[in-house]
Amino acid sequence: MTRTCWIPAYVALGSNLDDPCAQIERAFQALSDMQGARLVMRSSLYRSPPFGRVAQPDFINAVAGMLTTIPAREFLAELKSIEQRLGRALPAVRWGPRSIDLDLLVHGTTRLVEPGLTVPHAGIAERAFVLAPLAEIAPDLDVPGLGRVSALAAGVPSSGLARIAA
Ligand code: AMP
Repeated sequence: MTRTCWIPAYVALGSNLDDPCAQIERAFQALSDMQGARLVMRSSLYRSPPFGRVAQPDFINAVAGMLTTIPAREFLAELKSIEQRLGRALPAVRWGPRSIDLDLLVHGTTRLVEPGLTVPHAGIAERAFVLAPLAEIAPDLDVPGLGRVSALAAGVPSSGLARIAA
């Protein structure tokens, strides 16, 4: 008998181009259609000021809680293929505007640093626009190597971040 192991995985969604709220909805739909994964929870949408020095529109952010049978590297490849299918235009500059960005935040107890993939995602602990939606759906999640989400969220300033829709 083959055993299927379902691993909890969390994905950050972000967009600040081409009707960002609609982009996030389309991305949630694509995640719910993903082979080898189930979309279990979705956070509210949050509006956040842009990251970095590039002048650009505010971002809309959210987090998806999923279960998956797919290992981390293949899971990230799926996320990139969804970005392509949704027509992501690559930003011309680092931290520039983008129509859709999907990041793998956490994949079970996986801890990996390899070319093109760091899990847990390297930016989690500093980013209120990730931690606020993650804390909404998984406050007790233990992020491998970093600790509990609610404690991480309490440690970052969330000025400028606004919950805009359930
Ligand atoms: P992005 O910010 O989505 O343009 O991603 C930039 C690069 O980060 C991509 O080439 C990914 O391979 C890399 N990357 C490393 N770790 C992760 C992760 N956990 N989730 C998403 N992208 C990642």
